[in-house]
Amino acid sequence: MNHSCCPNVIVTYKGTLAEVRAVREIEPGEEIFSSYIDLLYPTEDRNDRLRDSYFFSCDCRECTTKEKDKEKLEICKLDDPPSAETVKDMIRYARNVIEEFRRAKHYKSPSELLEICELSLDKMGAVFEDSNVYMLHMMYQAMGVCLYVQDWEGALCYGQKIIRPYSKHYPSYSLNVASMWLKLGRLYMTLKNRTAGVKALKRVFIAWFLH
Ligand SMILES: [Zn+2]
Repeated sequence: MNHSCCPNVIVTYKGTLAEVRAVREIEPGEEIFSSYIDLLYPTEDRNDRLRDSYFFSCDCRECTTKEKDKEKLEICKLDDPPSAETVKDMIRYARNVIEEFRRAKHYKSPSELLEICELSLDKMGAVFEDSNVYMLHMMYQAMGVCLYVQDWEGALCYGQKIIRPYSKHYPSYSLNVASMWLKLGRLYMTLKNRTAGVKALKRVFIAWFLH
């Protein structure tokens, strides 16, 4: 099955059994595509990933039109907006810090990891909106560290910031959105906020099971 960044099926695994589920109408004779990668990221990053891991570039509609890139790379709306050069530098910084964090996870302590997240979010926040996918990436990492050290309030705080933009960037059937609602639901329940917990867990159901 070939890859597309706008796939018509998703594949999940139950042990050794692959379950292939259509995510939109498929015409007879139409090729079946799944996605091999996380679709959160902009076109250039997705293609870097595809080249590194699968040795090809993608030429799907999303990669050709780059339609969602602007939204994914949302820049702060300021009276004096950052220059193109500043934005370019910040994107380069973001890619480096993501890579640095990926390596640091193997040998740094949770508090050191959280510091990398917070510092990078501070720095990127001068140029990027909170909904920018590089901001979301580092918030997601910070949430993971908070969960690891059982800082439920900290994790919830990051999760609440992540969920809306996630729902905007990812397609409606996305497992990433369902799994974020699940995390939020469990956090609310742990923190004894039953009303918000039930609401979040209903979203898991809507995001995934009813699709
Ligand atoms: Zn593509």
